[in-house]
Amino acid sequence: KTILISGASGFIGAHVLDAFLGAGYNVRAAVRSENSTKKVRKTHGKYGDALSFVIVPNIAVLGAFDEAVKDVDGVVHMASPFILNAKDYDKELFEPARNGTLSMLKAIKQFNPKVKRVVMTASFSCILDYNKGLRPGYNYTEADWNPMTIEEAHTTDPANAYSVSKTLAEHAAWDFVKNESPNFSITTICPPMVYGPLRHSVDSMDKLNTSSADIFRLFNGSEKTVPDTTFYCWTDPRDVAQAHLKAYESEEAANQRFIVCSGNYSYQKFVDIIRDKFPELRDSTPEGKANQPLPPVYTLDGSKAEKVLGIKYHTIEETVVDAVKSLKELEKSL
Ligand code: NDP
Repeated sequence: KTILISGASGFIGAHVLDAFLGAGYNVRAAVRSENSTKKVRKTHGKYGDALSFVIVPNIAVLGAFDEAVKDVDGVVHMASPFILNAKDYDKELFEPARNGTLSMLKAIKQFNPKVKRVVMTASFSCILDYNKGLRPGYNYTEADWNPMTIEEAHTTDPANAYSVSKTLAEHAAWDFVKNESPNFSITTICPPMVYGPLRHSVDSMDKLNTSSADIFRLFNGSEKTVPDTTFYCWTDPRDVAQAHLKAYESEEAANQRFIVCSGNYSYQKFVDIIRDKFPELRDSTPEGKANQPLPPVYTLDGSKAEKVLGIKYHTIEETVVDAVKSLKELEKSL
């Protein structure tokens, strides 16, 4: 069976490739350029001919995926900008996120009746009500939605605009299924901040994906004090990748949302682990107030993915140690 995977060149994409290729599927990776095909071929060369490519230069135009979807058996749609410094929210965030989703779903409906399941990478950003703050004691579940509108997003900061781009895309997908009764069901995967080892190709340390850059700065000497934590929930890309695979395979996952969340964290907790496990990094990692308990803050319920998809979450130590090891190796290799 062949699965079309968009966003295959990214941080999470590389782990999703491992999950599907490792489980014996063929993968058609949708990437933006010829150069990306070379990079992915390099990181995932061991899978040989099971990995093929299709180039989709601009996901935001309707019809972008019309050729890409032909003859595949299933689809994972992950391509979407994860940037927290956008200036033109429409062009840089909302259009690729929402139109990219719609161009994928419309193409499948029109050109590939064989596809029965589409898995889409959504986000905790589609769930969190940012204006409610830390919300101590509140447990976010799959029933929650980020209520921020596109109009409000235009008046707010780029991080909220990113969150709204993901929310618009997920709403667009559910509306499409409701209104168009397509040949496929969808499953959306909603991870919070994803930290862990890197499997994708990175040209330089200042071109890291957003969440890897977020952990790298904690130990590379650029933070003199422990930064304030923005999002308090995290998960590991290997668990996110397994969730995509199991969501594709599980009957029960049809038309369901799944939070994939390992637990709560703070940057203080991360630096505690880094300073403990990597003594050689102590000089470049701020100490803060070691072993402080987390502040009272919301939780994000990842138990449905454990029950239905069989996800066994990595621990915070495993995630941080593997992320730091991987970033150190990458830095050395460049
Ligand atoms: P990356 O930036 O590493 O990957 C993003 C992927 O999407 C890349 O393959 C990128 O292609 C592609 N992409 C981005 N913008 C466009 C565009 N305008 N047109 C075509 N392709 C585009 O980030 P992640 O791997 O972290 O993100 C993957 C998905 O996971 C996204 O949907 C993101 O919103 C979601 N997510 C990520 C979280 C995290 O903490 N990392 C948390 C929750 C959700 P290219 O390589 O060519 O740039």
